[in-house]
Amino acid sequence: MVQIKSVGVIGAGQMGTGIAHVTALAGYEVLLHDVSRDKIDAGVGVIEKNLSRQLVRGLIDQASMDAAMARVKPAEELQQIGVTDLAIEAATENEDVKKSIFKALAPHLGENTLLASNTSSISITRLASTTDRPERFIGLHFMNPVPLMKLVEIIRGIATDADTYETAVKFAQSLGKTTANAEDFPAFIVNRVLVPMINEAIYTLYEGVGTVESIDTAMKLGANHPMGPLELGDFIGLDTVLSIMNVLYEGLADSKYRPCPLLTKYVEAGWLGRKSGRGFYDYRGEVPVPTR
Ligand code: NAD
Repeated sequence: MVQIKSVGVIGAGQMGTGIAHVTALAGYEVLLHDVSRDKIDAGVGVIEKNLSRQLVRGLIDQASMDAAMARVKPAEELQQIGVTDLAIEAATENEDVKKSIFKALAPHLGENTLLASNTSSISITRLASTTDRPERFIGLHFMNPVPLMKLVEIIRGIATDADTYETAVKFAQSLGKTTANAEDFPAFIVNRVLVPMINEAIYTLYEGVGTVESIDTAMKLGANHPMGPLELGDFIGLDTVLSIMNVLYEGLADSKYRPCPLLTKYVEAGWLGRKSGRGFYDYRGEVPVPTR
């Protein structure tokens, strides 16, 4: 079994920063890569801010925070990730983007490096087939926000070998996470159930059954959900929600998964939710204000 000591994280957005955060805190050396130095630096800034929050809450001490920050290093070139024991791809939810990353990375990988994708919905088997090591490729699907959420969904592609699976489970457990196995079908378990519900909430809004506020209040108080579905869509990122619906729609060829036109419109407008400042709520003021 491969001994994981260093981890490469590709994509320094919401998920990549979260994965780098928990991985560094657990004692692994981390290389963080994104398309530009600015994005990497912004990601390192997010990690520092989120570690500080844990420090203030007494969840970690100053020495652990300092040690974790010292373990996260920028990798401006994708090929630098090749030296790590485990490379986790957490870039935009777009199959072409992910495939091009794995193709570009493959020639620089160490012989034993394991590859993982944090994809929310895309076939692990298909992504693995673009690499030279489908048997050492696995889906490690972290939840958002990574430092708080306990689950890592583990998805084996058709060729993933037993060693890779066992190493991945041990790695997730070493971060304090619980794993659940899902088969490699579109959107796996969590998003197969969750994202159509968010899409249905958007249809409910689109058809005028409720307002943003009434839909979220109804689901929070009526179904005991900690966040309303529209608030949750904004939190995930509406571009990611739309991509997942498209993967379900195309992958399962069933019209029940068709993305709501209103979701498409928000994404086309660049209203992607919290990360862009506006989605079903406008986050630019003191308190979020519904946009419909
Ligand atoms: P995000 O938009 O916050 O971040 C994506 C990052 O990828 C950006 O910083 C972008 O610059 C970078 N990127 C794009 N192309 C790249 C490339 N070629 N090389 C390196 N970096 C590149 O998105 P996110 O929410 O962090 O999602 C990332 C992945 O995690 C997606 O596959 C998504 O489906 C998955 N995921 C998201 C959530 C969620 O709730 N947002 C939860 C679980 C999994």
